Amino acid sequence: MEDYIVSARKYRPSTFESVIGQKALTTTLKNAIATGKLAQAYLFCGPRGVGKTTCARIFAKTINCQNITAEGEACNECESCRAFNEQRSFNIHELDAASNNSVEDIRQLVEQVRIPPQIGKYKVYIIDEVHMLSTAAFNAFLKTLEEPPRHAIFILATTEKQKILPTILSRCQIYDFNRIGVEDIIEHLASVAQREGISYEPEALNVIAQKADGGMRDALSIFDQVVSFTQGNITYQRVIENLNVLDYEYYFRLTDYLLQGKVADSLLLLNNVLNKGFDASNFINGLGSHFRDLLVSKDAATVSLLEVGANTRERYKDQAQRTPTPFLYKAMKLCSDCSLNYRNARNKRFLIECTLIQLAQLTQPDNDSSGGRGPKQALKPIFNQAANAATAQQTAGNQTVATKATAPQQAEPKQTAPEQTATQQQPAAPQQDPASPTYGNPRPMVNPDRFQLKPEKKTPTITSISQLGVSIRKAKPVVETPVEEEIDPHLQENRPLTQEGVVASWERFAQQLPHELVALKNRMPKMRVTLIDNTQVEICVENELNAKQINEMLADIRRFMRKDLQNYLLEPHVVVKELELSVRSLSRYEQYLKMIEINPWLQQLQKNLGLELD
Ligand SMILES: [Zn+2]
Repeated sequence: MEDYIVSARKYRPSTFESVIGQKALTTTLKNAIATGKLAQAYLFCGPRGVGKTTCARIFAKTINCQNITAEGEACNECESCRAFNEQRSFNIHELDAASNNSVEDIRQLVEQVRIPPQIGKYKVYIIDEVHMLSTAAFNAFLKTLEEPPRHAIFILATTEKQKILPTILSRCQIYDFNRIGVEDIIEHLASVAQREGISYEPEALNVIAQKADGGMRDALSIFDQVVSFTQGNITYQRVIENLNVLDYEYYFRLTDYLLQGKVADSLLLLNNVLNKGFDASNFINGLGSHFRDLLVSKDAATVSLLEVGANTRERYKDQAQRTPTPFLYKAMKLCSDCSLNYRNARNKRFLIECTLIQLAQLTQPDNDSSGGRGPKQALKPIFNQAANAATAQQTAGNQTVATKATAPQQAEPKQTAPEQTATQQQPAAPQQDPASPTYGNPRPMVNPDRFQLKPEKKTPTITSISQLGVSIRKAKPVVETPVEEEIDPHLQENRPLTQEGVVASWERFAQQLPHELVALKNRMPKMRVTLIDNTQVEICVENELNAKQINEMLADIRRFMRKDLQNYLLEPHVVVKELELSVRSLSRYEQYLKMIEINPWLQQLQKNLGLELD
């Protein structure tokens, strides 16, 4: 069987010319070599997989080449070049500081630096991930970096420039590597595919390039993965399946719905996306990016900021034509707000739905200055296209997902009269973003089952659809879910937690522990329990043993406290912190007391065996 070489290695550039997407930088390096103006230390900064190490290697090869070409490249024929290409050159040393970051590693390197090269003029030392060196190692290295022998050149590479000490920075010539543009990546992938005899759709390569986020090495790894998955026929459809990428088709369709004010269709589309297992926050971020892409497509000056393939570019331009610019400004703002509030929202799906509803309102008349979010705005009836939506959805093969929730008799368009506006319904929270009515709102939330557009759920009566996202009345829970069952925490009504409440509940938990655990039972109320970030409960214990004991009953604690405090987002975890008081070492007798506190059987054992403490 032929040896398989991953594409990132097989197609690693061997000349400056073939380095992708770093033209300015490689030209500068070539010029420096041609004019003989070499620095003794270089710092290559930039994201992973953009060619830092590759350029360092090419640089090392070129400066040692005995016969540099007119283009300033290594000849690849002289003895030195051959040694480099066959990876047997003694003039290049690579140290991965991520795994060799001790003082000893650096001392060894410094030893080597003194020895001049046998063949060629320079020895090049590449230190990868240089920010990972320990401070001591950094200091050991600094001396050599200050006064290196003439034959030594250092190339330090890092993904995190800000972590490099100023003393090092000031001694290096700094090169900043860019993320590689999507177009460049696509072009390179296409050439690799051609050389490998692999057929591909340009859109498929586009998805890979986007996913790689500017890194060529990542792009080629993903490419290899996709090639093996698709057996050499890379189609758009199979790539998005394999990479679990959300089809941009959804965003085009959703934008059309939103422009037409079709709220129901938008919600169904969201449901569809979530059912496919996509993450809601990615979805809303993707939507924001889609609006941004539409915005840059509107203007010839900014269209170059659009990083997509040629076909998709046309689609963007087309949809951009139909989308008013003010809509895009407001829509981007709404998506950004939603994204910001996402982490804190107790019911994340609801937040996204509210945002979609607001987006769909943007193009409606009377929307004047409020920007879609002001408190004055009256929402429009949203489910009046229900019948169409349901049909559309059925044809889309998504069963009857919509039909119940949107049954026409439940929607009462009359309820959308002006008195049902946000200001009157919720005067207490004027600053509150309607997109996140749950945040910081101590009142119980409506049971989100109402918006679970799932066929098996019985839909409660929706008295006033127009209040969606503005003010929700407490609905009678339709299905009482027993607490012990597996519950999606976001679908519960969660009471806000308080520090006092958490502590009290913790004490109640300790109280109900069986008598066998009396030692722990007495100990627990003394442990420090802290509420963090509204839902996280940090249980502070003094040592690993206690941590182990508490961790063993963590599931019970979680169940108890969640039920006790009626908050299903509550999440306990254990941290070990030495208390200041316990610094004093214990006397032997105290040690004994502590041991029997942890394990009462020890006392029994001591008695039974008649042991004495001295
Ligand atoms: Zn050469």
